Amino acid sequence: MLLSSRVKGLTDSITMKLNEKALNLNDEGKVIYNLSGGQLPIKPMPEFIEKIHHQLNFLKSYQYSPVAGFPNLRKKLIKQCTDSRALPAEIFEADYDCIISNGSKHSIYNVLGALLDPGDEVILLAPYWVSYPEMIKFWGGVPTVVKSNVFDAFVPAIDDIKKVISGKTKAIIVNSPNNPAGIHYSESWMKDFAAFLLENPDLIVISDEVYSEICYFDPKPSYFYQYDHTLLTRTVIIQAISKTLASTGLRLGYAIGPQNLISAMGKIQGQTTSGPNSLVQRALADFDFSLIENFLTPVKYHVRQNAAALREKFREANLGHCWYQSTSAFYFMIDFSRTPMFARFDNDRQDHSFTIADELLNQEGITVVPGTDFGVPNSARIALVIEEVPFLEALSKIVRYLNRT
Ligand code: PLP
Repeated sequence: MLLSSRVKGLTDSITMKLNEKALNLNDEGKVIYNLSGGQLPIKPMPEFIEKIHHQLNFLKSYQYSPVAGFPNLRKKLIKQCTDSRALPAEIFEADYDCIISNGSKHSIYNVLGALLDPGDEVILLAPYWVSYPEMIKFWGGVPTVVKSNVFDAFVPAIDDIKKVISGKTKAIIVNSPNNPAGIHYSESWMKDFAAFLLENPDLIVISDEVYSEICYFDPKPSYFYQYDHTLLTRTVIIQAISKTLASTGLRLGYAIGPQNLISAMGKIQGQTTSGPNSLVQRALADFDFSLIENFLTPVKYHVRQNAAALREKFREANLGHCWYQSTSAFYFMIDFSRTPMFARFDNDRQDHSFTIADELLNQEGITVVPGTDFGVPNSARIALVIEEVPFLEALSKIVRYLNRT
């Protein structure tokens, strides 16, 4: 069958291939340490599950919701955003709105659909979340990548962003806390970014904040629009319950932004997926968001402990130059390019991320996500969420592999 050129332009996820192989190896009896996960390996808190149970009793939980989601929940999500970001209470009252979608990936897809014409450029800050470039291309846009490196803890320089602005630049996606780097951009970075935006008045910002609650080092994440509220007129904030409520499978995310953009997203949503899951929305509308902080406290403690263990292992193994202080979300990027193992590639300037991830799986039983899809060659993302004992075992194996010549 002849497929569309649009879909042919999409790349297959190489992670899927590795995951398939990991499953096969596991079936053959090999112990596999899965560090490739993008979700918390725990259930949500009982209070939220209880709300879902309760909503099972109502007919409305099984019927279509309004396209943009239930108004009471949208209002509640806007309030949650204003309160947690210390924004003036009335800031979103006029000219702004919220739309709830089937996960924040869906929200981002709709934002890009509402914004992009063919050829429009969208700036991505590497490392970036794997789906951004593919979604941009799907809508006919062109991703423009700003690089960063391990020495700067994967924080891109504002000056480098300035260099890629062109007459075709439409938007920039900022993801802080960042998947895959596991860091958030500092207050001073956000202030400089705000100043940069003021110099570029047509640039629209997609601020992907799905990990905003998962930060295990102070100061907590801040956002450019907190330093200049006028920037909200061209910002769309992306949020979700996937990470903060350990509910990736419930598929609920949302966007808060200028009314005309949100209503354009609603047009796309209305003609494609309709409104999001009614049952989960109703449970969420009835749920006390203030419980999330307590729920996440042990999670953050655990991630912080694993990050500290990683530092110790790398230090003991003379791999300190591959280490940086991760602070948020639950990931870490390993840069292979300065490890003994990498010498055999003779600095050939190729990206060997996949080969290395494949070897780590075959030789050590470790699954990681190759850095290629995050825009960082010769690296891999590991998740810091698995239990301490298997995590330490996995680390020993990674270190052994990295020091192998
Ligand atoms: N944004 C980032 C940075 C992510 O890491 C993810 C998921 O991994 C998403 C958005 C999408 O999450 P969901 O669609 O589950 O809300």
